[in-house]
Amino acid sequence: MRSFLPAYDMRVPLELDEALETMAREPGEWKPFAGGTDIMVLLEQGKLADRKFLSIARLKGLRGFTVSDDHVTLGAMMTYRQVQATTILQQEFPLLCRAACETGGIATQNRGTLGGNIANASPAADSPPALLIYDAELELVSAQGARWVPYAGFHVGYKKINMRPEEMIRNIRLPRTKKNWRQYYRKVGTRRAQAISKVCFAGAALVDNGGITGARIALGSVAPIPLRCRKTEALLQGPLSTEMIQASADQLEREIQPIDDFRSTARYRARVGQKLLEEFLLGLMTTPAGRPA
Ligand SMILES: Cc1cc2nc3c(=O)[nH]c(=O)nc-3n(C[C@H](O)[C@H](O)[C@H](O)COP(=O)(O)OP(=O)(O)OC[C@H]3O[C@@H](n4cnc5c(N)ncnc54)[C@H](O)[C@@H]3O)c2cc1C
Repeated sequence: MRSFLPAYDMRVPLELDEALETMAREPGEWKPFAGGTDIMVLLEQGKLADRKFLSIARLKGLRGFTVSDDHVTLGAMMTYRQVQATTILQQEFPLLCRAACETGGIATQNRGTLGGNIANASPAADSPPALLIYDAELELVSAQGARWVPYAGFHVGYKKINMRPEEMIRNIRLPRTKKNWRQYYRKVGTRRAQAISKVCFAGAALVDNGGITGARIALGSVAPIPLRCRKTEALLQGPLSTEMIQASADQLEREIQPIDDFRSTARYRARVGQKLLEEFLLGLMTTPAGRPA
């Protein structure tokens, strides 16, 4: 352990109001501690700049999920294992379940939370592309009240999020609109397990009479933020053809901004992104609605 533990403070509030008031008194000083899977890595490396933490593990209202006619709403403390085990998510939001299965190993899946993955804001994280496809919304709470914001737009730069320092994520809401869409998710990393993605791809399309009538494409690890590729989506209309696949792959390459880093090269990331788009599109005519290819 390279950090000096007495330099850190951790409180365990039992009520949400208590946590939010502490955050409001010293905005930006107190950070939520959820599963700790990102925070503890930084602590171990001696790179944990924040000093004061509020464990949110015992707060009511951040766990579990609710279902209404229009939405499934997930508490920010929902872990990857819980996501995997939730029937309605398997049925209607399979990309999120696939992302949860691909995240780290079992220990990480038992502790790591969706809220933590979103707030940690890594462009290589696995759940954001799925959340973008599903038009997720976030409920942000502070001592001043709660507000809902679209998840698209939450990431505003590398590791920068559109959340006030005294706010935390309470819920993630998923509109139940993609049940009949064909869905595809694939993570490419160095190995099958315990690897951060070189490219992470999520796609969904509505297919009617052999033609595409709606498309969603989102990628991780190819830009400073998780990226929804709207210009590529715009080309995916009508009967699938070789020309459409080529034109959309060319557009995808223009739309993403991959970099060279210790995990991969920009060229490899661009090529893999294009190949995954092609695999998604070719699978559209054979994949049943709802099921990830
Ligand atoms: C071995 C290992 C493997 C991993 N593999 C992957 C992987 O394959 N894919 C992947 O995407 N990630 C991976 N991760 C990263 C990590 O597990 C996820 O990002 C996880 O979802 C973080 O959730 P947490 O609850 O542990 O967050 P924490 O570590 O508790 O917090 C992370 C950040 O989010 C903030 N935060 C937490 N909850 C909230 C909230 N409700 N509101 C506001 N801010 C909040 C914290 O203040 C902190 O800044 C891995 C981590 C480890 C250690």
